[in-house]
This record gives sequence, structure tokens and C-alpha cells, in this order.
Amino acid sequence: MNLVLMGLPGAGKGTQAEKIVEKYNIPHISTGDMFRAAMNEGTELGLKAKSFMDKGELVPDEVTIGIVRERLSKDDCQNGFLLDGFPRTVAQAEALEAMLASMDKKIDYVINVVVDKDILMERLTGRRICKNCGATYHLVFNPPKVEGVCDRCGGELYQRADDNSETVQNRLEVNMKQTKPLLDFYESKGYLRNINGQQDIEKVFADIDELLGGLH
Ligand code: AMP
Repeated sequence: MNLVLMGLPGAGKGTQAEKIVEKYNIPHISTGDMFRAAMNEGTELGLKAKSFMDKGELVPDEVTIGIVRERLSKDDCQNGFLLDGFPRTVAQAEALEAMLASMDKKIDYVINVVVDKDILMERLTGRRICKNCGATYHLVFNPPKVEGVCDRCGGELYQRADDNSETVQNRLEVNMKQTKPLLDFYESKGYLRNINGQQDIEKVFADIDELLGGLH
């Protein structure tokens, strides 16, 4: 079960990733997590990645492709894997095709969790966070009992600077522009499967599960 998971910020990709790897017992390979771990450990890779990540830029392909190649060659990937955050560019997708071919493998599905831009805007801009304990709320989907006050600790709720509508709009637009060529690439290969992300978390997972059930 060799999978790639895609979806815009706010689409619920992280939630679905957790459910997929738990049920199918495959490793969750997130390049963002790998870079953050390397940074925390202060390794050479971490130092290389830091300068790009701090600016919100992509880490150069040769670095990123190198760490994915190394990770996919590990024993725990023999029965499959879930890639998350990689590939981000067509060059990375082509490199992934080549590296899998050299291991006699191929991608089974690219799962794309699809949510309308307006709904993503609502999900992302409605987020509120407790200043004191970090608990997260949503004005519409998960409101606190008392407006502006944390249920858990009574702390004050605030909106993160990058969750304001202008920044969110920009983040989504940049993301859509970047992923379009990638989605086209995978569509042309016949791997792409769009999943409706505008449903309950459990229903979204049921749809993914149904798709993956066909692989057994
Ligand atoms: P993420 O957690 O997926 O949002 O990734 C955080 C940061 O890690 C990104 O902003 C990039 O700087 C870097 N990164 C993660 N995945 C990739 C990738 N596939 N290619 C290049 N840079 C990446």
C-alpha cells in the first residue's frame, strides 16, 4: 500500500493521515516532520533545512529527495507507506517515480482530500487559541462555552497572526498554484483519487477506507 496524501491547509489531511497509518499499520512519512526533527537534533540536515524553512521556502529538491530516498529504503516501508508533504513539486514527483521503480515498486493511490476554498477560509480564520494552555477552538465548529474564554483553564482566547483572512487567502492561493501541476501529473498517471473532505471526519475516513480496501 504505497500512498501519497494531498490536501490544502485546513482540509483535514493530518487527521486522516493518523487514521490511515493506524488502521493499515504503515509508516507516516512527513518531510516537514523529518525536517523539524532534524532541526531540533541540530544535525547537518537540520541546519541545511532551517534557513529555507524559516523563510517559508521549499528546501532544495536534492536535499528533500535524498532524505525521502533514504527513508523509503528502510525495512518498515516494505509493506507500504503514506507520504505526506512530499512530493511538493513535479521534479520531486518524477524523482519519486524513478526511485520507486528502482525498488520495483509503484504508487497505488494519490489521495487528495478536497474542500472548497470558501470552507477552508472559514475553517482557518475561525480558529481561536488559548493564550494560557494552547487549547484550540473554532468559532463555528467547536466554540468555547463562554465567548473568548477557554473551557479548560479560563484563559483568554486569541487569533493567531497568520490566521487572519488576508494571510489565509494568500496561503491558500499560493498552495493551490503550487499543487495544480502536481495534481495534473498524478491525474495523467491515473493515480489520483479525489475524496470529499466536506463531510464528517468519520465519513471522510470511511471513503478513504473503502478505496484502500480494494487494494487487499
Ligand atoms: P510542512 O510541515 O509540510 O508544512 O513543511 C514545513 C516546511 O518544511 C516547508 O515550508 C518547507 O520549508 C519544508 N518542506 C517540507 N516538505 C518539503 C518538500 N517536499 N519539499 C521542500 N520543502 C519541504
